[in-house]
Amino acid sequence: MDSVGVAAAAPDAGPGPAWQSKCPWGAPSTTSISCSLADVMSEQLAKELQLEEENAAFPEVVAAAEGPFITGENIDTSSDLMLAQMLQMEFDREYDAQLRREEKKINGDSKVSISFENYRKVHPYDSDSSEDEVDWQDTRHDPYRADKPTTTPRRGFIGKGKDITTKHDEVVCGRKNTARMENFAPEFQVGDGIGMDLKLSNQVFNALKQHAYSEERRSARLHEKKEHSTAEKAVDPKTRLLLYKMVNSGMLETITGCISTGKESVVFHAYGGNTTEDKVIPPECAIKVFKTTLNEFKNRDKYIKDDYRFKDRFSKLNPRKIIRMWAEKEMHNLTRMQNAGIPCPQVVILKKHVLVMSFIGQDQVPAPKLKDVTLSSEDMKKAYYQTLNMMQQLYRECNLVHADLSEYNMLWHDGKVWLIDVSQSVEPTHPHGLEFLFRDCRNVSQFFQKGGVAEALNERELFNAVSGLNITADNEVDFQAEIEALEKINEDHVQNHGKKLSTFSSDGDPPIFDE
Ligand code: ADP
Ligand code: MN
Repeated sequence: MDSVGVAAAAPDAGPGPAWQSKCPWGAPSTTSISCSLADVMSEQLAKELQLEEENAAFPEVVAAAEGPFITGENIDTSSDLMLAQMLQMEFDREYDAQLRREEKKINGDSKVSISFENYRKVHPYDSDSSEDEVDWQDTRHDPYRADKPTTTPRRGFIGKGKDITTKHDEVVCGRKNTARMENFAPEFQVGDGIGMDLKLSNQVFNALKQHAYSEERRSARLHEKKEHSTAEKAVDPKTRLLLYKMVNSGMLETITGCISTGKESVVFHAYGGNTTEDKVIPPECAIKVFKTTLNEFKNRDKYIKDDYRFKDRFSKLNPRKIIRMWAEKEMHNLTRMQNAGIPCPQVVILKKHVLVMSFIGQDQVPAPKLKDVTLSSEDMKKAYYQTLNMMQQLYRECNLVHADLSEYNMLWHDGKVWLIDVSQSVEPTHPHGLEFLFRDCRNVSQFFQKGGVAEALNERELFNAVSGLNITADNEVDFQAEIEALEKINEDHVQNHGKKLSTFSSDGDPPIFDE
């Protein structure tokens, strides 16, 4: 279908006439298309094969280049699966509405009613929304809805007298068959038949239907396997569907492009959409899409596995849900920081593995990382004291250790430092919490000392200043040993009492317990 109907709406087509903004598939081309079905099929096949090859060779590159770039006038329709799913959603909605009407008609005022509940379609998009921590309401009318050709009513004919048209009329029936293709499995590529006013004969329709059913069975088998392996690409069709929904619901105005592609996440910039009564949408948003391969998140296990907040849930989760948990962790941690008044992105919404937050920067330009910005010595000093302050606040007020704090995760914006990237942050009593804090202190201390801040504490002094602990070791090895000893005391306490210390203490006093 890419080769015909969609071409008009392809991402590189630039801004087009107004009708493009209404229909992501584009309107039927007015110039006649002189390509046969066979051409279309083989072209599509070739494209698919090429894509497959590219994906295998440059998985990262393709992921970045293929960003969703969903905007009002310009929607990436390269994924047939996504298109099909959107069509399917629309179909399901109408189907259910019709079912409700029939249910009402049959039951009437009768005291005994028949429920059609079991015949409802399970909406592919909403089917797993129960797994979400936070959901949002889709309030806006779907502007991408394809106009359906009129079909003949039940009685089998329309019109009067000599203008009568029966359901056997070739044109009407053909159009109807085309419309009915929507009923096929979502994975089945039905093309833009409706937009093109395609008329299918019964014979062709039946053959397609047969094919679609066998494809559905085949893909169901394939799908089972695919579903359980973690997506290599962050912006897989499901994610795109999610992003599409955010734009479609009016929450986001447009998604303009990709800000960053990391190993664990892809970050997009978006303009915020309509602020509603219960949700304030910032004018510019950052969308962090969590992705990870199995290997990478094995490495990160240690952050989450031992975090008691997630402990009970961890063992029961599949990889897909664990990725969601990263997003969830980032959301919770950002919220804590926000409450303590630490400059950081404000959470807008969490949807599965996609976190929308306020954008730090302006006019699509993200604020520079501390490592990339050249500050005057005065600003550098200011940044240092602010960082020290934030680390203390984070530890004391938020009960958190950043655990990946460095000049890479600090942005310089509006004359101050903003903390980002807190999905891996843990509470200080995490079994490795103090080690993480020490590492953070080393990074911060080195950065500001190298940056010429004479007042900057060394890593050990900084550690004590942040944690309030009083570890006296004057060399790195002993200091580290004392940190580990403290962590051990905490762990033993957990073993014996089933709960953690509320805080650490190393100055001779017995540890403070959380009774
Ligand atoms: P990763 O785990 O990939 O490092 P980050 O949260 O650090 O994820 O985001 C990657 C990059 O995206 C950041 O270095 C920053 O440049 C940009 N970024 C992330 N969140 C925001 C935001 N809220 N506003 C502006 N830029 C952001
Ligand atoms: Mn980062």
